[in-house]
Amino acid sequence: MVVTIDGPAGAGKSSVARATAERLGFAYLDTGAMYRAVAVATLARGGPPAERARALEVVDARRYLVDGRDVTAEIRTPAASEEASRIAADPALRAALLERQRALLAEGDWVAEGRDIGTVVAPEAELKVYLTASAEERAARRARELGTDPQVVLADQTLRDQQDSRREHSPLRAADDAVELDTSGRTIDEVVAEIVTLAGDARR
Ligand code: C5P
Repeated sequence: MVVTIDGPAGAGKSSVARATAERLGFAYLDTGAMYRAVAVATLARGGPPAERARALEVVDARRYLVDGRDVTAEIRTPAASEEASRIAADPALRAALLERQRALLAEGDWVAEGRDIGTVVAPEAELKVYLTASAEERAARRARELGTDPQVVLADQTLRDQQDSRREHSPLRAADDAVELDTSGRTIDEVVAEIVTLAGDARR
C-alpha cells in the first residue's frame, strides 16, 4: 500500500509523514531530500542536475550520499532549499528522480512525501493526502525549526511556493482524489491519527 503526502513547504509534511509511517509500520520516502541532495551536488560541482542525480544514493530515509559523500546534514541549509526548488523545475532531473522513486515504491508499503507524489509519481496510490496550513503558520514553524526570523522565512517560503506551483513540469497541486487536510492550529498527533484512520479505511 502507498500513502502519498503532498503539500507546500512548512505544511508539516515531514513530521506527519514520518510519524504516520512509524504508526503504520510502513517505509518512509522523503522525495524532497532527494532533490535537496542533488542540489548540494550541483552547488558543489555544477553541471546538469540530472547528471548529478546519478551519483545520488538513498541509503535510507535518514541518510543520503552523493558521490559517496554523506550530505544528510547539508541538505537542510537555506542554500540547499533554494537550489533544490530551482533545479526541481528541470524536466530531465524530474524524470531521473521519478524513475528512482517509482522503483522504490513498487515494492512494499510506503508513506511517500513530496509535491507531486499523488499527481505524478504514484497516481494509483490507495490514499492521497494534501496537507496545507496558512502561510504565516508555515513560516512560524520553519522559523522555530531553523532558529531564524519568521519574516525572513516567510519571504523565502513565498518565493519557493511560487516556484513550486508555477513551474511547467509537475507543479505543486492536490490530486483530484486527494484528501485535503489543513494543519493550522492542529497538533502533529491529531493529523497523524486522522491519516492512520483514513489509511485503515482505504485498505478495506
Ligand atoms: O520538501 P522539501 O522542502 O524538502 O523539498 C525541497 C524542494 O524540492 C521543494 O521546494 C521542491 O521544489 C522540490 N520538490 C519537488 N518535488 C518533490 C519533492 C520536492 O519538486 N516531490
